[in-house]
Amino acid sequence: MLFTHHCTACDKVQLIFPSLGHAVAETPEGPELAFTCWCGAEQRHVLVDGSASRDEVQLIA
Ligand SMILES: [Zn+2]
Repeated sequence: MLFTHHCTACDKVQLIFPSLGHAVAETPEGPELAFTCWCGAEQRHVLVDGSASRDEVQLIA
């Protein structure tokens, strides 16, 4: 599963591989993946429904 994430550090929408993640935390909104962006910044991303991410929903809308 790949997903896109808008990085708050490099201000780019990056394609994220699950292998980049190093931790998953359960939150009320769903599982939150902690990963390191390609730019080296620590980022967090809530996985919604396991496929479509919130960023993708925003891009479509
Ligand atoms: Zn970044």
